[in-house]
Amino acid sequence: MNYDVVVIGSGPGGYVCAIRMAQLGFKTALVEKYDTLGGTCLNVGCIPSKALLDSSEHYHNATHNFEKHGIDVSDVKVNMRQMIDRKNSVVSQTCVGVKYLMDKNKIDVHHGLGSFVDKTTIKVTPNEGDAFELKTKYAVIATGSKPNYFPGMGPDKDRIITSTEMLNLDKVAENLIVIGGGVIGLELGSVHARLGAKVQVVEFADRIIPTMDGALSKELTKVLKKEGFKFSFKTKVQKVENTGNGVKVIALDKNDKEVVFEGDYCLVAVGRKPYTEGLGLENAGVKVDDRGRVEVDEHLKTSADNIYAIGDVIKGAMLAHKAEEEGVFVAELLAGQKPHINYDLIPGVVYTWPEVAAVGKTEEELKEAGVNYKVGSFPLKALGRSRASMDIMGLVKVIADAETDEVLGVHMVSARAADMIMEAVTAMEYRASAEDMARICHPHPTYTEATKEAALAATEDRALHI
Ligand code: FAD
Ligand code: NAD
Repeated sequence: MNYDVVVIGSGPGGYVCAIRMAQLGFKTALVEKYDTLGGTCLNVGCIPSKALLDSSEHYHNATHNFEKHGIDVSDVKVNMRQMIDRKNSVVSQTCVGVKYLMDKNKIDVHHGLGSFVDKTTIKVTPNEGDAFELKTKYAVIATGSKPNYFPGMGPDKDRIITSTEMLNLDKVAENLIVIGGGVIGLELGSVHARLGAKVQVVEFADRIIPTMDGALSKELTKVLKKEGFKFSFKTKVQKVENTGNGVKVIALDKNDKEVVFEGDYCLVAVGRKPYTEGLGLENAGVKVDDRGRVEVDEHLKTSADNIYAIGDVIKGAMLAHKAEEEGVFVAELLAGQKPHINYDLIPGVVYTWPEVAAVGKTEEELKEAGVNYKVGSFPLKALGRSRASMDIMGLVKVIADAETDEVLGVHMVSARAADMIMEAVTAMEYRASAEDMARICHPHPTYTEATKEAALAATEDRALHI
């Protein structure tokens, strides 16, 4: 079979790339080794984790907040099997949706492991049946990533597990040990904490979400401690053992003293690594860097002149929306257009409750770069909207250039921050000043008023409601 483009991997990078290619008139094929489309994001990432986060938040509200709202419910119980079944049905509906989009755009989908025979030939090896070859002018590598781990903490998929197994655990953990206080550890830790688990986070750095602004780490730590999380910082895991009916995690604390954590499950959440196994990159002359990522230039072109790569398998944030933007970028580039991605403005979200969201530079980054900046902050508890819903924890922080007032970063912990952050992304894309953001009329009562107030505070320390 002959194609203009073959995309390998059907995650948010690959399937979006295939759609845009087809829209632009390329004869397109998508190769996916699993039976369902959608990749990590739809099958074992964004969508299932958010489904469980929503379910567990309902339980948490029923057991902690309903009474205060004047709603008496008794005998509230968790039915974990039903929770997992609902999550599975959300996942399968979403995956079927991607299949529909492939059919609608007349994209040929081939299920099987894709590997390069040479730079214009891709062999597809299905789980059952014979392998076959596709000939193509261009190829796009969108093979994503897999969970990472370090020596001594190798998952056994029984008690020592990664996010993939955790998303299918059909009982509530009692004592969950989480290695890594990053996004996965805190999101999946939250699911079980809300359902009643004791959660112990063991983090190598001196704070959770260490790549985000320090103010967010501090506020989120407070939030999660209220949910029953415990944290050990500057603690490096040495070894994890499955003891038969539990786990033992041996680590060194900041004074190099051995500490032992015991629990029933250990979630290993120390990052993800690019996935290129079985791709036959060497047959196509595609190089990888020292971290195993497919090397690309500023046009996302690999070391082979007809092969491009996008998403988690290349450098940059491992986020679904970043992968999607890159998929569209490559399609438009091959169609002769002049696409552009603003890598400085890729928002990041952590789906705890309240949510954490950020875009642009952190205060720590600006300090290190020697930029002269000013900061305005506003606490959610001063907002009428927050008091009405009882979501009073959190803050919005706007950082602007001290001389020009241009917004350089917006960081928030707030109910619905995942949606609120888009105001900041839009403002920053158009290079707004803090005063521009502050002067825009925000609807009342909404959480977005906290952004306006923080922008006012950054402009001339003139927040109105504090
Ligand atoms: P993937 O989604 O990893 O897809 C790659 C696909 O390629 C897979 O289907 C794989 O089977 C296939 N493949 C690999 N090799 C081959 C081969 N040789 N032949 C054929 N097929 C192959 N990001 C967010 O932005 N928001 C979130 O809320 C979020 N939550 C997450 C929660 C969890 C628990 C996890 C693990 C991740 C989450 N992420 C989230 C990250 C997000 O899932 C990834 O950034 C995103 O899926 C990357 O997309 P991709 O297209 O590059 O690769
Ligand atoms: P992460 O990079 O967010 O966090 C890993 C954490 O583990 C870091 O805080 C790091 O300091 C710590 N760590 C590393 N080695 C350690 C060790 N030996 N002992 C103790 N702690 C150690 O990675 P993750 O949480 O595994 O998530 C992987 C990727 O998936 C991320 O890049 C993220 O972007 C993506 N993801 C995104 C979302 C979202 O957008 N909401 C949700 C889940 C996952």
